[in-house]
Amino acid sequence: MDAEQPTACRKIPVLGLGTWKACPGEVIEAVKVAIDSGYRHFDCAYFYHNENEIGAGIHSKIKDGTVTREDLFIVSKLWCTYHTKSLVKTACSKSLKALELDYLDLYLMHWPMGFKPGETDLPMDHNGMIIPSNTDFLDTWEAMEDLVIEGLVKDIGVSNFNHEQLERLLNKPGLRFKPITNQIECHPYLNQKDLIDFCQSRNVSVTAYRPLGGSCEGVNMMDDAVIQRIAMKHSKSSAQIMIRFQIQRDVIVIPKSVTPERIKENIQVFDFELTEEDMKDMVSLDRNLRLATFPVTENHKDYPFLIEY
Ligand code: NDP
Repeated sequence: MDAEQPTACRKIPVLGLGTWKACPGEVIEAVKVAIDSGYRHFDCAYFYHNENEIGAGIHSKIKDGTVTREDLFIVSKLWCTYHTKSLVKTACSKSLKALELDYLDLYLMHWPMGFKPGETDLPMDHNGMIIPSNTDFLDTWEAMEDLVIEGLVKDIGVSNFNHEQLERLLNKPGLRFKPITNQIECHPYLNQKDLIDFCQSRNVSVTAYRPLGGSCEGVNMMDDAVIQRIAMKHSKSSAQIMIRFQIQRDVIVIPKSVTPERIKENIQVFDFELTEEDMKDMVSLDRNLRLATFPVTENHKDYPFLIEY
């Protein structure tokens, strides 16, 4: 297969459930509520250490006949300590085993940066900075392509890639499969217009993570006066406005919640439309505020946030 014939990528459901910091004990129930509410896309990762519970939630809804495996779109991510080519399949197999699945719909390279392999997710030096591996993400990508060939994953993609890194990957000689998405931090205070334009111009979809601004960051976008005004106008919540904002920009969005009412609320975004004016107002809120800066990796050769986008 050559670069002109990328994998026949299936559509990614535009709204998915985020699962970072969804604690064991809460997340099984959250997954069940989500499936009952209509979610079909689940964003998971080895690094979140909760894939067992997510798998249990998924399987209980398959068992009770609410959904089939084929109805679902399950995403997981390759953690940075597994970038060495020979470790990529090990990492994927761990996620598959935890989720009790035969295949993933999508497997993402969580970051372009490789870390020293080993038991610790975040291997640190004596200065409290990450210890890198000497891997190149192009080589890691080749091992991810092998997973597609072997049928362990249907599609592959990237996360936290800047436009130069993505361009380098797309131009890789002998590329067998294109990344189908770049999952990036994206919300009204970091709207990522340039990176989205770049990705979309290259036929790479964008998935917005932390679309509500996350939690515990000292930033509460829910209280933003502009978002609240738009929310009031449409009789919707601030969260629903932020989710709808991404959908109307053709961006896939994965809000996380373990609270049943919020899980249901966050998918009630297909019965209204933001006006052009609303969209302009939302775009105007940008303040280039990156929340997921991952400071312990700042010295890494592949740290993605040193250029504008
Ligand atoms: P989100 O922007 O999704 O915010 C989640 C927070 O918002 C939680 O505290 C949740 O609380 C709260 N919340 C959810 N819905 C509502 C609502 N309707 N009203 C009020 N509060 C609400 O942040 P995340 O960082 O979790 O990002 C989403 C997902 O993106 C992650 O879970 C993960 O899957 C992915 N991600 C990927 C990264 C990557 O590097 N690729 C990095 C970060 C995230 P509660 O759960 O208590 O209801």
